[in-house]
Amino acid sequence: MAPVFPFKTRQVEPVRLDDQPEAFQVYTERQFDKIEALNQLSETQRFEMKVVANILPFRVNRYVINHLIDWNNIPDDPIFRLVFPQKEMLSENDFEQMAAVLRSTSDRSLIVQKANEIRKKLNPHPAGQQTLNVPYENDEPIDGIQHKYRETVLFFPSQGQVCHSFCSFCFRWAQFIGDKNLRFSNKEAYKLHSYLAKHRNISDLLITGGDPMVMKTDHLVTYLDALLKPELDHIQTIRIGTKSLSFWPQRFVSDDDSDDLIELLKRIVQAGKHVAIMAHFNHWREMMTPVVQEAIRRIRKTGAVIRTQSPLLNHINNDPDVWAYMWQEQVRLGLIPYYMFVERDTGARHYFEVPLVRAWEVYRQAIQKVSGLARTVRGPSMSTGPGKVEIQGVSEIAGEKVFVLRFLQGRNPDWIQRPFYAQFDPEATWFEHLKPAFGEEKFFFQDEYEAMCKNKTLLRSY
Ligand SMILES: *Cc1c(COP(=O)(O)O)cnc(C)c1O
Repeated sequence: MAPVFPFKTRQVEPVRLDDQPEAFQVYTERQFDKIEALNQLSETQRFEMKVVANILPFRVNRYVINHLIDWNNIPDDPIFRLVFPQKEMLSENDFEQMAAVLRSTSDRSLIVQKANEIRKKLNPHPAGQQTLNVPYENDEPIDGIQHKYRETVLFFPSQGQVCHSFCSFCFRWAQFIGDKNLRFSNKEAYKLHSYLAKHRNISDLLITGGDPMVMKTDHLVTYLDALLKPELDHIQTIRIGTKSLSFWPQRFVSDDDSDDLIELLKRIVQAGKHVAIMAHFNHWREMMTPVVQEAIRRIRKTGAVIRTQSPLLNHINNDPDVWAYMWQEQVRLGLIPYYMFVERDTGARHYFEVPLVRAWEVYRQAIQKVSGLARTVRGPSMSTGPGKVEIQGVSEIAGEKVFVLRFLQGRNPDWIQRPFYAQFDPEATWFEHLKPAFGEEKFFFQDEYEAMCKNKTLLRSY
């Protein structure tokens, strides 16, 4: 492939960092006017951003502003689109309604009322996350835990329900707008540990959020050290889902408790667990600063492995070259590409979504440009109610053009890795748009899934 990417020099030597560590400084929609870089935008543009930021979560920090965004390329810069709200993220009607409220009043309660009304229309809980995946004990839901696939439990520690910056496309956006009902959280580590201890077929714990890496190391120690107890032997892998390598790599390098964090990772690895940092990178530009490369080096030295994942996003990474280069850089830095996701059916989906056929083309073209070591990435994958569905490709079978699909993960493990087929549809952007091929009425798993939903037996079998 022709390596004609607009990148600067690569960091090959171990990086030198400034003696004076950067302080974490964050801005939310109330501090819009304090972001100096935005002064170059017109009054109208700034107002448009405020309108959107009153509905979708907004939060950005100074590292992202100063080191990741190319301010000579606004508004097209991919990292700008990744964190700053754009007018087009709302429908015209919703935008106008919110704008009208903001122009006519400064009464918070009226603003919030309108915002909530619009938010409700944006499918805040895709794939029944809140209702279908939460396990029960003595007929009580266990807050802060999701258990959808047999091997893996998701944990949402209450102190980790925010991020160093917010992504404008986040599928968990509803968690960040202050409505307590929408928020998964669990104050008590012991509930998690007792659930894990009782379920010996769980091998993986995935700590997620928000971003667990916003937590002080002390808090992480509380959750993680307890996993080393003998009654949790069966927990082989501890995954930590995080965007901190992108948004605040100083977390691993120069924060007050960075060294303790590195020691913690090392201790868990030495105790015989696999530690996987599930790093969220949307664009290779996030991996170019000296501090992120230093963070990667420090994490890898602990014996933890970094795996990477990202959704495919219009306006940000809808380009096979961006993915190919990102994966190559990841392999060079010792990271393992893991998942490419389809943007979910929530929030500003219409701004970011691409047709499924396009997602497959981007994946295929990108994969063709890289060596086998970067082909560990699977996708494009849709996280749906019944499971993770991968678009394997487009084919023609017995005269009919079809999508070839498979489950990468399923509510019933028996569904996994069975090819199945949907009618080709060039406009489809999500699983719900697909219909079974060959004149069939239902997909093979459909009756069983519907029965699970109806009988509320989704999780009981574990
Ligand atoms: C993706 C996912 C997992 C992890 O699946 P793996 O295929 O093991 O990476 C676990 N739980 C939920 C709800 C998921 O969406």
